[in-house]
Amino acid sequence: MLSFGIESTAHTFGASIVEDADRIITNVKSTYKPPIGVGIHPRKASEHHAEVSDEIVKKALVTTDGTALRPDLIAYAMGPGLGPCLRIGATVARALASYLNKPLVPVHHGVAHLDIAMSLARVRNPLAILVSGGHTSLLVHLARRWRVYGETQDITLGNLLDMFAREAKLPSPGGPAIERLANHGHRLLKLPYTVKGNDVAYSGLLTATIQLLKNRADLEDLCFSLQEIAFSMLAEAVERTLVQTRRTEVILAGGVAANSRLREMLESVSHDHSATYDSIPIEYSGDCGAQIACSGALAFEHGTRVANEESRVVPRWRMDEVDVPWVPRK
Ligand code: AMP
Ligand code: MG
Repeated sequence: MLSFGIESTAHTFGASIVEDADRIITNVKSTYKPPIGVGIHPRKASEHHAEVSDEIVKKALVTTDGTALRPDLIAYAMGPGLGPCLRIGATVARALASYLNKPLVPVHHGVAHLDIAMSLARVRNPLAILVSGGHTSLLVHLARRWRVYGETQDITLGNLLDMFAREAKLPSPGGPAIERLANHGHRLLKLPYTVKGNDVAYSGLLTATIQLLKNRADLEDLCFSLQEIAFSMLAEAVERTLVQTRRTEVILAGGVAANSRLREMLESVSHDHSATYDSIPIEYSGDCGAQIACSGALAFEHGTRVANEESRVVPRWRMDEVDVPWVPRK
């Protein structure tokens, strides 16, 4: 079964074809980059998506050797995300579903980050760590749904990195630029570390780091310290959640999962507690069509589909509001 997926929740417009929920055949994307020092403006990002959608969709429907693909279903990210961006993806998906006369399948973007990570790593029932621009959540599947065991109380880990990068006039997205600089930093600067139970809070850390930047602290040391403190906070929350839930598998997903230092810390915590550790391959860590195609295939197998005229977008939509009957995986 070939599933076609469209992602458009925030900065990225992506399209992909995935076979049987775990074999990625095509995956094409284009990411909106705001000017240095500026955040993502929803209307500007949606204009980018509208402009690139035609080319991205066409490319995703053809293999590298030129074979045209005929998908069996069209999946789209229904939410959560930026309204104007979501609507572009939904519109393209409706048009394709109608033209090809194939079922339309709505997908939760966060659930999709976990679905593709679990498919590729072949894990069954893990403690899932989702770290991205939209999420910082520790999730365990219980009674049909992903349950939130820990999360950020204010901004996400991706936001923390992107907002600091903006202040430091680093290019977007901020995470990779901070990681490169952090690799040259040595001195651990004093910064606030805030863990409450299984939750983390990052806004105090952001304020303090920006203050040190204004006081002309060394940028490499600042990036190093920001990563060490932010990631250690998350690792502490992960450790507590692992002990409480006794999960024997850990999976890391979402855009921030591309970070080597974060992967290293979480792998070490997982092994300390005799759990296996896997992370989404870097290529598929950030928002992409493949996550939506994968999740769409799983959802469709379990009866999810929506009539074109009833399809909609949901900008605010929590992970624990979605039934995910395909976990634990077989
Ligand atoms: P997503 O919303 O899943 O596409 O994730 C985007 C987030 O991932 C942004 O906040 C990026 O700054 C962050 N990100 C991407 N690459 C890295 C990296 N190497 N280290 C840390 N964060 C990253
Ligand atoms: Mg995402």
